[in-house]
Amino acid sequence: MAFEGLSDRLQGTIQKIKGKGKVNEQDVKEMTREVRLALLEADVNFKVVKDFIKKIRERAVGQEVMESLTPGQQVIKIVKEELSELMGGDESRIAVAKKPPTVIMMVGLQGAGKTTTAGKLANLLRKSYNRKPMLAAADVYRPAAIDQLETIGKQLDFPVYSEGTDADPVDIARQAVEEAKEQNHDYLIIDTAGRLHIDGELMGELGRVKEAVNPDEIFLVVDAMTGQDAVNVAESFDEQLDISGVLLTKLDGDTRGGAALSIKAVTGKPIKFVGMGEKLDALEVFHPERMASRILGMGDMLSLIEKAETQVDEKQAKELEAKMRNASFTFDDFLEQMAQVKNMGPLDEIIEMIPGASKMKGLKNASFDDKQIVHVEAIIQSMTKKERNDPSVMNASRKKRIAKGSGTSVSEVNRLLKQFNEMKKMMKQFSNQKGKKGKGMNFP
Ligand code: GDP
Repeated sequence: MAFEGLSDRLQGTIQKIKGKGKVNEQDVKEMTREVRLALLEADVNFKVVKDFIKKIRERAVGQEVMESLTPGQQVIKIVKEELSELMGGDESRIAVAKKPPTVIMMVGLQGAGKTTTAGKLANLLRKSYNRKPMLAAADVYRPAAIDQLETIGKQLDFPVYSEGTDADPVDIARQAVEEAKEQNHDYLIIDTAGRLHIDGELMGELGRVKEAVNPDEIFLVVDAMTGQDAVNVAESFDEQLDISGVLLTKLDGDTRGGAALSIKAVTGKPIKFVGMGEKLDALEVFHPERMASRILGMGDMLSLIEKAETQVDEKQAKELEAKMRNASFTFDDFLEQMAQVKNMGPLDEIIEMIPGASKMKGLKNASFDDKQIVHVEAIIQSMTKKERNDPSVMNASRKKRIAKGSGTSVSEVNRLLKQFNEMKKMMKQFSNQKGKKGKGMNFP
C-alpha cells in the first residue's frame, strides 16, 4: 500500500498532539522531529524535508488562532496543509488545445510504464472526460513497443497510428497529428522512445519531436518504486525538455512514497496522474490535498465517491437510496452491492479512503480475501427468495439448511445475518441524517 510506513508514523505522532489544549515550543519541536524522521524514512529528499520542517515549525509556533480548533488540532491542520502543498497544492488540470487535437507527448525511461500509461491515459480521458483520443507509436527502436501499444489500442478500442520501425519518429509524430485532425480526435497521445539511462541521443530525438509537433503537454512517466532515482530522472528530463507534468506509476507497489513527496519540490513540476496497478483502468488524477488527507488517516471520501460513481449506474444508485430510506434493503441488493464494490478495486485500498477507518479496530488488518466474499455470496445464494427478502423468518433449521447448502457453518450464517442487520440499522440512521441536512453526504 502506498505511503504505508509514513502514514503509520505520522498518525502516531498526530495522535500524541491531537487533544492538547496547549501546545508549547517544546511540543512542536518534538513533533517536528518525529515528522522529520518519518519523512526521511519514507525516502523523501533530505533538502525537501529540511524546508518542510522549517515551515511547519514557523507556522506552528506562531500559530494562527482559530476558535473552532484546539491548539493540537491546529498543528495537525498545518501539517496537512503543508503536506498537500509539498505535493503540489492545487490539483493540476490537463491542457485543452484551442484547436484540436490536444497533443500529449509521453516521455520516460524504459520500464517506467510509459506505453501502458499512454493507454491508461487515453482510457481515462474517454471515461472521465468524454474525450476521443488517438494513440501514436513513435518508439521505433523497440519493435515490441509498437506491438504493445497496438495491443493496448485493440483492447481498449482506440486507433493507434504507426509507421513501423523504419520511419523517423519526427515524421511519425507529425503525420499522427494530421491523422488525428482528419479523423476528428480531440486528443493525441504520442508514445516516444525510452532508454535504460538518460543519454544525449535520446534527448536530442525527443527535442526534435517536441519542436516538430509543439505538444500541449509533455508528460514524464516515472516509476515511484525507484524512489529518489525517479526524482533525479525527473530533474534531468525537465532540464532538457521542460516537461509539463509527471505521471507517477506503480504507486500501488511503493510503500514509502519518497518520489511522490519530493518531485514537485525538487523539479517544480506537478504530479498529474498516478498509476495504481497494472490494469488499464488503474490511473487516477493526483489530488495533493486528498492524498495528504489519506496519508494522515483522515480518509478521502471525495475519491471514494467518484470511484463509486464511475462504477454504479445512476438509476441503480437512486433505487438503492430509496431502499435505504424505507429500510427495504434485501439480501439481493446486498449481493448486487458486493459485485459493485468488487469492481471498484482492492478492498484495502477502498478502506484507506474512509475517514477514520484505519483506526477502526480490526478493520485495518482484516484481510478481505476473495474467499470470504465467495462464502458470503454462497450463503446468500443458498437462501430462498423469501429468506432474502425477509431475514426475520430465519430459524434454526433454515440456518442449518443454508449452512449445508453453501458449504459453510451455522456460525458463519449467523455472523452474516448479524452484520446485515447492523448494516440496515446504520443505513436507516444515515438516511435520516441525510434527510435532515438536505444535501451532501454526512460522514463521521
Ligand atoms: P515502458 O517501457 O516505459 O513503455 O513500460 P511498460 O508500459 O512496458 O510497463 C512496464 C511494466 O510496468 C509493465 O509490466 C506494466 O504492466 C507495469 N506497470 C505500469 N504501470 C504500472 C502501475 O501503475 N502499477 C503496477 N503495479 N505496474 C505498472
